Amino acid sequence: MEQPSPATSEPTHGPIPSAVPTATAGRRDFLRNAIIGASVLSSMRAAFAGHALPIVQSAAPAPSGGAVAASGSTVPGTIRLAHLTDIHVQPELGAEAGMASAFNHAQSMKPDLIITGGDAVMDVFEAKRARAEQLRAIFQGTLKRECGVPVHHVTGNHDILGWNRKKSESTGSEADWGKRFACDLFGVARNYYTFDHGPWRFICLDSVQPKDDRYTAYLDDAQYEWLQQTLAATPKSMPIAVVSHIPILSLTALTYGAPRSREHVGTDTVIYHGEMHTDATLLHDLFKQAGNVKVCLSGHVHLLDHCMIDGISYICDGAVCGSWWKGSVEGIPEGYGVLDLRPDGTFTHRYERYGWQARK
Ligand SMILES: [Zn+2]
Repeated sequence: MEQPSPATSEPTHGPIPSAVPTATAGRRDFLRNAIIGASVLSSMRAAFAGHALPIVQSAAPAPSGGAVAASGSTVPGTIRLAHLTDIHVQPELGAEAGMASAFNHAQSMKPDLIITGGDAVMDVFEAKRARAEQLRAIFQGTLKRECGVPVHHVTGNHDILGWNRKKSESTGSEADWGKRFACDLFGVARNYYTFDHGPWRFICLDSVQPKDDRYTAYLDDAQYEWLQQTLAATPKSMPIAVVSHIPILSLTALTYGAPRSREHVGTDTVIYHGEMHTDATLLHDLFKQAGNVKVCLSGHVHLLDHCMIDGISYICDGAVCGSWWKGSVEGIPEGYGVLDLRPDGTFTHRYERYGWQARK
């Protein structure tokens, strides 16, 4: 059984800085610009290390029963969501124990529900059959053993089987090829869907669409129509949280994924199509019209940011795996998001470390 090593394989999006993306090239094509990127990255690391978004590591389980308001009182009806994204579980680097540790830590926060934000496994996009089945068994086994609260899943690019036909040696005609594998992995009939928990409606989206033997980020026509209908059918009094794997809007697409070379100065700002939704403006307009979309959560970039515009917060949480289990990414440690979602649509968010030490 051939097992590609994550140390040398960078099949799709990955947190290892690889310098300058373009709108049409893959990450491997950017390596020629690595020297230019290095100096920019080192200054960015310094900036991220001192950023002001809340990163915490709770010493003791937080109290259950809802969020603590600014006044110090608990808001009745608040639900707590743990957002664990980019787990990238694998047999190497103690990742199975890392996933267990993250779930245990998250559950000590007494969440009402958990959402995994995609890239649950490392990686089936390029992996051969035996490796893909091994990763599925590790993810499903660990989840079954370690997760005792309601859990929902979002599909990431790394969860899609065989879209790189050449490397995966797949034909595309296998019964579980592509997103079918992800649906089976997560036990869902379709990988975009909606559900309600307490006073909130959750809309889980599928960001990942095929582009040659790689991927790009948008909602296909059927999903876009479904999203329009779902928003229209949701009472305006009901706050909505949207969860996608790839950020719909994110500053990280500029600080991490955008081109970094002098040749782009004086031209349009380019955001790599695999780092942020290419239909971001369309989706934001939809959310703005709906009026009750309060927060859009994502992962994929393994970095942390929070953009707020038109009353909608776009939050990208860091990764459970950090840099594919080799430590932090540009100052963002291994962790997950904790959101206390109040009935009135307001919420708090923090990024919680769970104390994982990379086994390099
Ligand atoms: Zn991803």
